[in-house]
Parts: sequence; C-alpha cells; structure tokens
Amino acid sequence: MLDYEFKVNEIIERIKEKNIKSVGLQFPEGLKTYATDVARQIEDETDAFTLISADPCYGACDAADVDMAGAVDLLVHFGHTALPLDYDVPVLFVEAQSNMDVMGAVGSSLSLLEGYERIGLVTTAQHLHLLDEITSFLEGNGKKVVMKEGSGTQKGQVLGCNFSAIKDLDIDAVLYVGSGNFHTLGIKLFTDKPVVIADPYMNDARDIDEFADRIMRIRFARIAKAADAKRFGIIVSSKKGQSRLDLAKVLKNMIDKEEREAFIIVMDDISPELLVPFRDLDAFVVTACPRIAIDDSKMYKKPLLTPPELEIVLGKREWEDYEMDEIKY
Ligand code: SAH
Repeated sequence: MLDYEFKVNEIIERIKEKNIKSVGLQFPEGLKTYATDVARQIEDETDAFTLISADPCYGACDAADVDMAGAVDLLVHFGHTALPLDYDVPVLFVEAQSNMDVMGAVGSSLSLLEGYERIGLVTTAQHLHLLDEITSFLEGNGKKVVMKEGSGTQKGQVLGCNFSAIKDLDIDAVLYVGSGNFHTLGIKLFTDKPVVIADPYMNDARDIDEFADRIMRIRFARIAKAADAKRFGIIVSSKKGQSRLDLAKVLKNMIDKEEREAFIIVMDDISPELLVPFRDLDAFVVTACPRIAIDDSKMYKKPLLTPPELEIVLGKREWEDYEMDEIKY
C-alpha cells in the first residue's frame, strides 16, 4: 500500500468521462517521489498523456496552472485543498490523505491535556479523514472536542497560513495533529491557549509553549536587527496564490515616508541566493508566503520580516500586538 491516497481511480474516471487528452500532475516536495507511479497508472488506463511538474510546489497557493495552461486540459494538484482563485486551467485538488497512524501520538497527548476539558482540535489536509476517530478517542477519555469550519477550510483544518478554523473557539486548550513550526506557532498566537502537538512523524506528543517562546525570541531579534535598516526590499511573489502587490505598494509608501528607502522585488521562488545581488538592501519584507520569514529565517543572513513585523520596526505597531501574517483570499 502507498503511504498516501492519490485517488487515481477517481482521476481516471474523470479523464474518461470528460475525454481528457492531457493531464498535468503536480505534487508537493514530499510526494514527488510518487509522481511516476501515478503517471504510469493514468497512462496505462486511459488515452491521456501526463505532464509532471518538477518545480517546487509549496501549497495550494502555488498551483502550476499558469505554467501548464495551453499544454493540458486538466491539472491534478496533490496534497492540498482548493483555494478560491481563478485558475488558468481546470484544477482537480486531491488532498492525498496520509495512511500514517496518528493514534499513537494522539494517545501520548492525553497526559499533556490533563486538566483541560474543552479541546479545540485541528489538523492538516493529510489527516482530516481521521478527525472522527480522534474525536471519539478524546471524548472517550472525558474531553469535549470543539471544531469548526474555517473560511475556505474544512472543519478542523488548518491550511497553509489559514488559521480561521481555530480562531474564536470556546476552548481550554488546543490539540494540533501534524508537524511543522509555523502551524503550531500560528495556533498558539491566534488562540493564546495551551497548545499540544501530536506529531505522527515523531509518534509522540509535546507541549509547544517553550518552542513558541523560542520562535518569538528569534522574531524579536530579527525585528531589532531591522530597526536600523535604511533600505528595504519588499518581496512580491509572482505565484498567483501568494501575490500581494497592493500590500507591497502600501508597505513601500510606509517606508518611503520614514526617510528610509524601499524597492519592490518580484520573484517566483524566494531563496537566499537570489537575494545576494541586492547588496545595498539591509532587510527584506516578504509579502509572499507568510511562512518564509518564520520557518526559513535561519537560511537568510539579512533579516526577513513579515508585514506586521515591519509595522513594529517602523513604530506603527506595538510588540505586544504581534500578529501572524495571513494571506486572505
Ligand atoms: N512541507 C511543508 C510545506 C511548507 S509550505 C510543511 O508542511 O511544513 C511553507 C514553506 O514553503 C515556507 O516555509 C517556504 O519554505 C516554502 N515556500 C512557500 N512559498 C515559497 C516561495 N514563494 N518561495 C520559496 N519558498 C516558498
């Protein structure tokens, strides 16, 4: 059995039904190794040919529809759920459920959730299908599970930088099933409740408070380092789901008024190497994926800030009002 459900039979049905001749396939990094298996199965069982996208794929905000337009009748994007964007070709989103066991990790979370009754439960697309099982387990152990749909996300789902399913819940603590820094920190900041992570990859659970504090200390250090910056680069991604040019213009204005200077820099994938030529810039503000400044901060020599962090640097926001950056669609 593969580790993920790629729903190839459903894709094949759709190809036959719509008489599709060419199909684009796009996988996030962790799933790319399955690309040829999926492509082979589609080509063996239909008359369609497949094009596999090899560019990095970071989320639903990063669909290859623009690259594939004209070349394919359908793009199948694996690993994420849809965003409300205008795609250049029809896109079928297949969330690629993980077959990984999460109950071991969830079991370990019980001792950390002791004393809390109302538990907000969230996870990522890969494990959404297990929410009922996790809920029964928690409720069987005396908890009350609280979940809601987010705007653009399913019940109990955090997607990329969209935390709406966990905001404003009447809860005592949060259980997040998944991995990753950004989600755990985002949940902490948006709920201000104790957050426990049940990490199926580690098959264990942990409290994230100390971890969240550490990340916040790094954010504080980056903001402090950017305080003296005279010249900023404001990064705009050309990815349709990450492009916030209007925000970049507002930030540029804000900086230019402060007797500092800002330049808007457009790029698709952001990397430390591509920023090297901009020697005269002291710091960067990322309007693309909100996670880059947080998750990848160690890779960059110069400070990378999120838009709310820039406001702190410019004295327009208090550190106490620190906010996670989110792209709203
Ligand atoms: N497998 C990861 C996916 C992370 S998505 C996980 O589930 O945790 C967020 C990350 O994608 C960012 O931290 C950054 O490393 C990368 N990313 C997103 N958009 C990017 C862009 N435009 N350029 C470079 N990296 C990007």
